[in-house]
Amino acid sequence: MSHDGPHNADAAVTPPEMDGLGCHAGGEMDKAARAAGKSEILDRYRADYPTGPHDKPQSMCPAFGSLRVGLRMRRVASVLSGSACCVYGLSFVSHFYGARRTVGYVPFSSETLVTGKLFEDIRDAVHELADPDRYDAIVVTNLCVPTASGVPLRLLPKEINGVRIVGIDVPGFGVPTHAEAKDVLAGAMLAYARAEAEAGPVAAPESGRSDKPTVTLLGEMFPADPMMIGALLAPMGLAAGPTVPTREWRELYAALDGGAVAAIHPFYTASVREFQAAGRPIVGSAPVGADGTHAWLAGIGEAFGLPAERVAAAQNQFVPATRAALAENRIDGTITLSGYEGSELLVARLLIESGADVPYVGTACPKTPWSAADAAWLEAHGAKVKFRASLEDDCAAMAAIEPDLAVGTTPVVQKAKEKGIPALYFTNLISARPLMGPAGAGSLAQVVMAAIGNKDRMGRMKAFFEGVGQGDTAGVWEGAPNEHPEFRAAHQKKLDKQARAKQAQEMI
Ligand code: SF4
Repeated sequence: MSHDGPHNADAAVTPPEMDGLGCHAGGEMDKAARAAGKSEILDRYRADYPTGPHDKPQSMCPAFGSLRVGLRMRRVASVLSGSACCVYGLSFVSHFYGARRTVGYVPFSSETLVTGKLFEDIRDAVHELADPDRYDAIVVTNLCVPTASGVPLRLLPKEINGVRIVGIDVPGFGVPTHAEAKDVLAGAMLAYARAEAEAGPVAAPESGRSDKPTVTLLGEMFPADPMMIGALLAPMGLAAGPTVPTREWRELYAALDGGAVAAIHPFYTASVREFQAAGRPIVGSAPVGADGTHAWLAGIGEAFGLPAERVAAAQNQFVPATRAALAENRIDGTITLSGYEGSELLVARLLIESGADVPYVGTACPKTPWSAADAAWLEAHGAKVKFRASLEDDCAAMAAIEPDLAVGTTPVVQKAKEKGIPALYFTNLISARPLMGPAGAGSLAQVVMAAIGNKDRMGRMKAFFEGVGQGDTAGVWEGAPNEHPEFRAAHQKKLDKQARAKQAQEMI
C-alpha cells in the first residue's frame, strides 16, 4: 500500500542533523516540524497552550502526561514513537508510578525516518495490536523527533477491526507541560467519541448511568474528591458524572452527555472545546474552602438554571461545615507555592482560608478563563499569581520572601532546603490530598504545620553541611576539590569558536 511517508525533501532539518537535538532544542525542532507539514497542529498547540518566558519544558517530558492518561484506561493500548532515550525515560517513569501495563514502542533509525518506513512500521504495529477482544482503542504518540520529521499519524486508519486508533503529536516544543499533554489526549479522545455519538447510538458506561442530571468533572483528582463533589451536588438534585480523563472509553460518551462541565483543573483547553461543541456550559474554579464552595455551587446552579432556593439549600448545608473544618485546622505562617499540576491556585485558596499568608503562587500552566475567579480571589487576598511561571520565577520568589514553608517542585524544594527553609513537594505531598468541600478543608493543616515546625532542624542541617561545596564541588572531599580551571577555559574556547562558526554560516 502506498502512503504519504514523512520524508520531505524540503525539510529544513534532516533527521541525521537532528541527532543530538533533545528537550532543549525547541526552536530548531519547531522549524523542522513546520517544514515537514506539521504547521497546523503546532499552530493549534500554540493557541491552546501559549508558551511563557521560554520554549523548553522545565519539568518532566510533557508526553508523560498523555502517556499516563492512556495507561490508566482500561482496554486501551499505548504505543510511543520516538528516540529510544525518550521512550526509556517515559516507560521508566510510568512503571515507577505503577503503570502495570506494557508501553508499546516502534523504534526508528535515521533511515526509517528519512524513507518513510517508520510510518509503515507504526501502521504494521497497530494492525498487529488491534484485537477487539483486548482493546477498545490504541493511542499512538509521536514524540519530539518523529513530530519534527512530520511522521503523519493522521494517515493511520481511524479504526481496525472495531479498535479505534488515536494518533497524537506530543512534542516538548509544542506542548509546554505534562499537564497540558493530558489535555492533548483527552481532547483527541473526546473529539473521536463526539463524532461516534453524533453518528448513532453509543454504549452506556459499565458503571451505568445516573438518573439525575450530572456534572462532568474535568481534571485528575484525589479519589475522594469526586465523591465529596457528588455530596455537594445532591441537595440540588444533581450528581457527579465521570471524571475526564476517563478510565474507560465508554465514559467519554457519558462525559459528553453531562448537563454541565466543571473545569476543576483549568488547563484542559482542547477538552473544553469538545464540550462546548457538544453544547455543554463550563463552570470554572472548584468547591475549595468556604468562599470557593459558596461561589462554585452558585455557578453550577446558574449553569443548570436552578431556582435560588435549591442552590441556597446546598450552600447552607456545606459552606458553614467547610468554615467549621477550616477553623479547627488553622495554618499559621508564610508560604510560597508553586507547581506544574494545574491545581496550584486551588491549593493556595485553601491555605489562605486556613489562615496562611501566601504572597506568591506560581503555576507552570497558562492563564485560562477557568482559573480567572481563583486568580482574582487570590490577588484580592494578597497573593501575586504568576501563570506560566518558570523555575527561575519560583526560586526568585522563594529567595526574596524567605517563607516559613516553600511548597514547590523538586528543584524549588532543593533550593529552599539549601537555604534552611522547610519545603514540601507539591506533587507527592500536597496534590495527593482531598481538597474539596468540608473534606478538603482540614486536609492540609497537619502536613503543613508539621513541615513549618521543622525550621530549627533545617537550620541545624544547614549549619552541619556548611562549607561542603556547591555545584560541581558539592559533596565531601578529602582535601581541596581538583577543579582544573584550564579544562573549563579550553572547553569554553571551543564553544565560543563553534558559536562564531555558526554565526558566520548564518551570515552567508
Ligand atoms: S520526547 Fe520528551 S524527553 Fe524526548 S526530547 Fe522531547 S521533550 Fe525531551
